[in-house]
Amino acid sequence: MTIRLLSPTTANRIAAGEVVERPAAVVKELVENALDAGARHIRVALEEGGIGRVLVEDDGQGIPEAELALAVERHATSKLPEEAMLFAIGTLGFRGEALPSIGAVARLSVTSRVPGGEAHVVTVEGGRKSAVRPASGAPGTRVEVLDLFFATPARRKFLRTPRAEADAALDALRRLALAWPEVGFEATLDGRAVLNLAPAKRETRLRDLLGTDFAAASLPVEGGGADSLVIAGLAGGPAFTKATATDQHFVVNRRPVRDPLLRTALRVAYREVMTPGRHPVAALFLELPPDEVDVNVHPMKTELRFRDGNMVRGAVISALRRALGQGIGQANGFGQA
Ligand code: ADP
Ligand code: MG
Repeated sequence: MTIRLLSPTTANRIAAGEVVERPAAVVKELVENALDAGARHIRVALEEGGIGRVLVEDDGQGIPEAELALAVERHATSKLPEEAMLFAIGTLGFRGEALPSIGAVARLSVTSRVPGGEAHVVTVEGGRKSAVRPASGAPGTRVEVLDLFFATPARRKFLRTPRAEADAALDALRRLALAWPEVGFEATLDGRAVLNLAPAKRETRLRDLLGTDFAAASLPVEGGGADSLVIAGLAGGPAFTKATATDQHFVVNRRPVRDPLLRTALRVAYREVMTPGRHPVAALFLELPPDEVDVNVHPMKTELRFRDGNMVRGAVISALRRALGQGIGQANGFGQA
């Protein structure tokens, strides 16, 4: 056996498998980039469940012409000005992997215009990068991804039906919209409007996304803990339950996460008031100093590690128990403290 280095194209295709396993991941990565760029309004268009086309347009700060070519290179990021910051991440992205990974397995085009500048475009198709060319476009960034996995047909076979892929992609978008209520979101699926959220306060956004039933039956959660931990959100009363645990949303430092520790805390807090086999509905928002959480655990960044997990678990359980204790026998709606 001879050891040899993989070509950049192959290395990018392998890395792409971790970052973009399906259209939902493309949507998540591109919308995170838009949010990191300070967008106030984000438009997403999906065709064929996102397999045929994902388009994400934002009105954020844009990418300067001189940096457009670099933006699609592996490990190129504007979000870690110093390496030491790796342990105190304040943006959703930081790995510099999304755009090159998408470009390795699909047809990617990034069109961007900074305020006062002209629009330019760069494309990457199956790992082959074009020169940066002048284009037309509004201030902000427009990223289009066509023919996902055309360059890696073996992976394309693992995709589910367009319907299922669209559901997953819209779910990823809703999770981000829940965490970023002050940003407007619009989405279309095969040209049909499926989501239209105006910039709003957190309560309004939660009602839009989780339904007015939940809003009416939910209790405000407030709490805190050591290390400047702040907990806020809404929890469904014990009578408002679901057969599955799908409507349990956790947002840590503006990042939607699926975290076993937080799920457990939710289950424990409801243990005495919940019918076995039913699941609570909740949306909890945690803020803590960035160096108290490590988001660099997994390429998708949906898992994290708390520096002091026991403290976080305990604080979440007591905040929920307090909310439930106050709410038993009465259903507080919005507006009531
Ligand atoms: P990361 O987000 O981890 O930095 P990406 O590959 O997703 O890596 O993006 C690379 C770089 O391209 C970003 O650091 C940012 O500078 C720039 N970029 C990507 N998308 C946008 C966008 N929508 N608006 C402004 N800049 C962007
Ligand atoms: Mg990114």
